[in-house]
Amino acid sequence: MNRRHFLLGSGAALAAGAGIASAQLRRTGTEAPPTVRELQQHWRDLLAPGARIAGDATPITRTDAEWRSLLSPLAYDVLRHEGTERPWSSPLDAEKRGGVFACAGCSLALFSSAMKFDSGTGWPSFFTTIPGVFATKVDTRLIVPRTEYHCVKCGGHQGHVFDDGPQPTGLRYCNDGVALRFIPARI
Ligand SMILES: [Zn+2]
Repeated sequence: MNRRHFLLGSGAALAAGAGIASAQLRRTGTEAPPTVRELQQHWRDLLAPGARIAGDATPITRTDAEWRSLLSPLAYDVLRHEGTERPWSSPLDAEKRGGVFACAGCSLALFSSAMKFDSGTGWPSFFTTIPGVFATKVDTRLIVPRTEYHCVKCGGHQGHVFDDGPQPTGLRYCNDGVALRFIPARI
């Protein structure tokens, strides 16, 4: 499978609302997996011209005051101080169009619509992520420790991942909608 085949194949998977680029890549076996930069370019190619999305995962740093001025108060609380939005409060929970969910802090593409499912929890939920976009850490604020995940580009807190999700991964990425920005696909 050459690179062009990968790009087209993954694009078709997104358009059909099924399939995972990373799973397709793993099955080919012979090539090195794409870099985060290549994956970001791939997702950007599927969006409308001019759609704002980060070109790579190179970390960015801003002061707390800069973040506060750039983000809405709720997005600032979630992304920069690991807050949690109220369930059922995000319109992205019911978003069913094809497209990409990017980080509201830095525009790194984090999920595609094909990775989303209705968990019934009131938060946008995904069973996998675009590879290479998250780092995790253990959150011990509740009695039962949880695994929280952060965007690797801006360090923003996105949500918690649980092991009660659907197949094929069995994972549930429970994401704050206010930490995401949805960009519809152009097809
Ligand atoms: Zn980010």
